[in-house]
Amino acid sequence: YFMNKKENYIYFFDNYEAIAKYNLEKRKDLLGGKGAGLMEMTKIGAPIPFGFIITTQAGKDYCQDSQSSFNQIWEQVIQGIKKIEQKTQTQFGGSQNPLLLSVRSGSKYSMPGMMDTILNIGLSPITLEALSKKNNNIRFSLDLYQRFIAMFGSIVIGINRQKFNNVLEKIKKKHNIKIDTELSIDNLKEVVQEFLVLFQREAQSVFPDDPFKQLKLAIKAVFASWNNKRAIKYREINNIPHNSGTACIVMAMVFGNLNNNSGTGVLFTRHPALGTNEFFGEYLPNAQGEDIVAGIRTPLSLSFLKEQKPEVYQQLKKWCLKLEQYFKDMLDIEFTIQDNILYLLQVRTGKRTAQASIKIAIDMVKERVITQKEAILRITPQHINSFLHPKIKLDNSQKILFQGLPASPGAGVGQVVFNTEEAEARAKNNEKIILVRQETSPEDVGAMNVVEGVITAKGGMTSHAAIVARAIGKPCIVGCEQIIIDFTKEELKINNLIIKENDYLTIDGSTGRVFAGQIALKKPEMSSELIEIMEWTNKYKKLQVRANADTLEQAKIAKQFGAEGIGLCRTEHMFFKKDRLKIFQKMILVDNSVDKQKALVELIVLQKNDFKAILKEMRGSPVTIRLLDPPLHEFLPSTNEDIQQLANEIGYSKNKVLELISSLKENNPMLGFRGCRLGIVYPEIYKMQVRAMIEAVCELELQGIETRLEIMIPLVANYKEIKIIKEMIIKTATEVEKEQGIKIKYKIGIMIEVPRIALISDQIASMVEFYSFGTNDLTQMTYGISRDDAGKFLPFYLEKGILDIDPFASIDQDGVGKLMEYAIERGRLRNKDLKIGICGEQGGDPLSIEFCHKLGLNYVSCSVYRLMIARLVAAQVAIRKQKKSKN
Ligand code: PEP
Ligand code: MG
Repeated sequence: YFMNKKENYIYFFDNYEAIAKYNLEKRKDLLGGKGAGLMEMTKIGAPIPFGFIITTQAGKDYCQDSQSSFNQIWEQVIQGIKKIEQKTQTQFGGSQNPLLLSVRSGSKYSMPGMMDTILNIGLSPITLEALSKKNNNIRFSLDLYQRFIAMFGSIVIGINRQKFNNVLEKIKKKHNIKIDTELSIDNLKEVVQEFLVLFQREAQSVFPDDPFKQLKLAIKAVFASWNNKRAIKYREINNIPHNSGTACIVMAMVFGNLNNNSGTGVLFTRHPALGTNEFFGEYLPNAQGEDIVAGIRTPLSLSFLKEQKPEVYQQLKKWCLKLEQYFKDMLDIEFTIQDNILYLLQVRTGKRTAQASIKIAIDMVKERVITQKEAILRITPQHINSFLHPKIKLDNSQKILFQGLPASPGAGVGQVVFNTEEAEARAKNNEKIILVRQETSPEDVGAMNVVEGVITAKGGMTSHAAIVARAIGKPCIVGCEQIIIDFTKEELKINNLIIKENDYLTIDGSTGRVFAGQIALKKPEMSSELIEIMEWTNKYKKLQVRANADTLEQAKIAKQFGAEGIGLCRTEHMFFKKDRLKIFQKMILVDNSVDKQKALVELIVLQKNDFKAILKEMRGSPVTIRLLDPPLHEFLPSTNEDIQQLANEIGYSKNKVLELISSLKENNPMLGFRGCRLGIVYPEIYKMQVRAMIEAVCELELQGIETRLEIMIPLVANYKEIKIIKEMIIKTATEVEKEQGIKIKYKIGIMIEVPRIALISDQIASMVEFYSFGTNDLTQMTYGISRDDAGKFLPFYLEKGILDIDPFASIDQDGVGKLMEYAIERGRLRNKDLKIGICGEQGGDPLSIEFCHKLGLNYVSCSVYRLMIARLVAAQVAIRKQKKSKN
């Protein structure tokens, strides 16, 4: 069976019926982007030189097993050449009307300049003479020949191109010639002769005169260029799958260098950087395409063509507009004019900046080329990111020092500082600082707010540093396990390399890469077009998008970015400010009830004012405030100095404070005494927080400001926990209501973070009004991976493919997802009004948002700088689903 199965490796440009049954994706899979484009263009009658495409399958087969597959490919290529000969009335290698060919690479994904192209194949002494006669132009054919030898020699054989250039320069110098076009016929003969000698010396064989041999080698070289270094690197950087393979396009040559009525050019149908609706391109009279690409001669603007050859220009314009309408996108077009006749050589979707992407999408909606939905589908999370965060201007000279987990996007440049206080002080003094820590704690938040970026040696995607950095929009890289920090020497080591305090580093939080020195950054800038497209997303998305926000400032930004509420206000973050932390520490540590009460009253006032400010800012939208969650030891001082200071303040001996602190230490704090367990054992803390919330609501309501408070209980695992805390909330709220003389509305809900609570969803669903999936903890507990220490092995797991995605970045749909599905199904069965959301960090991740949409969640909640991405993706998944159900 396998022996008989013959793969169809080639498709003629005009054989559209053969691909009509495939959708665009499949066509590009099969023919590469360029190949698919050529067939479409031929179909609508664009002036394309004839040819055929050798499929990506051929490319893949060749890369896997060059010997056996190529024989089959070659058989079909020979047939293909016959048809080109017929169509063009020429003969490959012929002595009358010789056919010359180009062989071009073209994969499904645009990889400009990464793979090879060979022009003018088929030249030999015989065809050279025939061509000269036919065009009555010896100079032209000699010029082609010398180009061909150099191109073939360098690309197919691998001779250093510079050696050919050196020969050319030597001859030019000898005859006192400045530019190539001044070379006489005799000069060119000399160049050809010397090139042939050079070729033979370097290749250890004479230059092949047999056109079929040339073609065979050229096709092989194009296929092999899929695996050249720069192509592999490009695929790595751009996440292009290594197994997609390249097609190879074999096409009759047309000549832009035939005479002064000829030329060649490239153009974008819209401005690729700005997106404005104008042609943007270059033109070179009397030249071949490679002259533009190689930058040998400085090209002219298209307006030159417009002036010199208005008719050809009009024709070009007509085709560009027609093709844009047909492909419904901005295009990158290569054209050649041969003796006043226009040919289009290739078309593909044009590469563009984020700004251009968004402008073009919007303009095309206004021009009725595409719909709003199509425009939304064209925007990517990366586009949005580039409007929010600075980016590195990368070239190849920059060396990656080390790499960690990309915890928070954007780029930052600064001097390394290891000490948090010093970092904060210097950054406030307008110095640019990169804070490098083992891990971060609440005490570091002040510094994190002002530095350019943060690196931690430990921690995963939901560790403290990662969450805080995302919340404030700071670049952050965590889990850099290769680095060893020596705080006493104030240096860090990576293998044998040492980075000292004050050395400059540049960090890219979007990729997790750290570079030596200062790399220039591109500043972000919001565009009105992006805001407009974001407006559209609201019409189509089904998921509500809320923000994780803990402060008034964050709430304000959240609103700007279109949050429809707050899905998680982590009250502990309100204690991170130094003066507040003191009061909180006092409240935890003092054992006489008078002092404790005093601290609690102070805290009520502080928290109430925070809550009021946030509820007021979000007026009318839901605000989910979570009762205290982290283990208490996180709030306690760690350095000797701080401990002494605290002891002085509360009038205890340092030893006593140390004792108390050590009594609160935990071996595995994330699985220990935290969340609602604290609220049950120390009810005064939760009572204080509830009182602060309810007082805030009462006072606002009395002022006529509408509020929608949702009180959320963290880390519940059992029925009685909910019962006890719910009763406490209601009792406290009723007290406050009585005091204030007003009845208010609020909701009570729980976080689903402990697997057990997901499993008993049917027991508890009717006790609460909402669930919010805390997928950070739920992942940690389901997978048995510590949020804070995963950096030790997660990168290894990811590299080795044991895990495809970091489950703290994107929901583990098979495992954690099952628990979610189960909890939702059982929950809604018992309580049909149950509102369900997610507030774990995965709530801002595109794949997870799609999953939440599928599960039927009511909302996703994510850090403020990811809100726009969440809104975009929520709209995209809804649109895609609609499309599917229509089909
Ligand atoms: C969670 O566990 O997913 C969550 C949102 O809570 P935190 O990250 O504060 O533990
Ligand atoms: Mg949690």
